[in-house]
Amino acid sequence: MEWSAYGVAERFMRYVQIDTQSDPNSTSFPSTEKQKDLSRLLLKELKDLGLADAEMDANGYVMATIPATMGTEALETIKPPVICFCAHVDTAPDCSGTNVKPILHQQYSGAPIVLPDDPSQIITVDKYPYLKKFIGKEIITASGKTLLGADDKAGVAILVSLAAYLMQHPQIKHGPIKLLFTPDEEVGRGADFIDFKKLQADFGFTLDGGQLGAFEMESFSADQLILTIDGVMAHPGAAKGIMQNAIKIAADIIAALPKDKWCPEQTAGKEGFVHPTRIQGGAEQVQIEFLIRDFDTSSLANYEARILEIAESVVHQNLHYNRSAVQIQVKQQYRNMKEIIDQYPQMIELAMAAYRKAGIEPVIEPIRGGTDGSRMSFMGLPTANVFTGMQAIHSKQEWVGVADMQQAVQVLAYMVEIN
Ligand SMILES: [Zn+2]
Repeated sequence: MEWSAYGVAERFMRYVQIDTQSDPNSTSFPSTEKQKDLSRLLLKELKDLGLADAEMDANGYVMATIPATMGTEALETIKPPVICFCAHVDTAPDCSGTNVKPILHQQYSGAPIVLPDDPSQIITVDKYPYLKKFIGKEIITASGKTLLGADDKAGVAILVSLAAYLMQHPQIKHGPIKLLFTPDEEVGRGADFIDFKKLQADFGFTLDGGQLGAFEMESFSADQLILTIDGVMAHPGAAKGIMQNAIKIAADIIAALPKDKWCPEQTAGKEGFVHPTRIQGGAEQVQIEFLIRDFDTSSLANYEARILEIAESVVHQNLHYNRSAVQIQVKQQYRNMKEIIDQYPQMIELAMAAYRKAGIEPVIEPIRGGTDGSRMSFMGLPTANVFTGMQAIHSKQEWVGVADMQQAVQVLAYMVEIN
């Protein structure tokens, strides 16, 4: 089959020209109205493709169903799972998304690509070894002054192309397929107002991953910890034997944290960490904020107990701190989606079978962070993440190989097909 005929590159080039940057400082939802410019276009294109129930809600979410190609009776016998595919319309606030000018490089030569609007932006195979795979093939870059927006318009283009492909091939047997386009993923709010009741899906996949074969079903579990240190205040002129300075206690506690492990700068892969992110206060009281991260949720409590232990031992072992006090407060942030996904082995089997049928070796790696998928998994829709091809995301050197996007369309079509 001729995948390029389904227009994923053409759609992608159009979508990236629509500015959909989200704003972490906004209190409205979606955080920027302009995200709806793309959502409205998607709504029209999905309807034009024949997805009659396509709708955009007041929050800017677009939902649509690719109707089943099997009769009611066959559906009731086979009961295929209802799969939801999801992509986000917004682009990252890190880099401008205004006036994106996508450039299609046909038959990429392998030479450094100097971006025309800012010649200091040069994309090379040394910097991006994955680029070598695309020598002689098509890649798309921005022009130098903006990001490209492959994160996540590659995902958006893949989903609309899947709809186009399946609507034009009614002989491919499949159940109802849900498509969901969300705003505000980049500011961490993409899952906030998903109408799961209306969605009625059994499980989902976000199209928001990187290179060919990537498959992600595991994220950090995350807490925030606030350590409060209460010292003892006195007038500094009459403080002898009285004052216990919370700033000095805080410094000793930070100095007592392990330096060769435990921290983001010394951990990778499946290791967790403790990361002080912010300190505020004065001589009387100091608060230190920590991010606590691990793939194993039960380990979070160990890190938290250890921080308290270190803080208490600093206070107790120093006579000058004996009337000061420390306490911790823990706030849950998000949890490893694998805890949920493990309960749905069918979704992983189905995805892995589709990758292999497309001749793609799955590369399953944990995400050292959180995703909308991890939140969606705990909100009732187990959701893993599939590759799109996007590279060097959130930067002016962002690029994507067209073949990777086409292969993602193919994988999704294999995922839903019933033989
Ligand atoms: Zn993304």
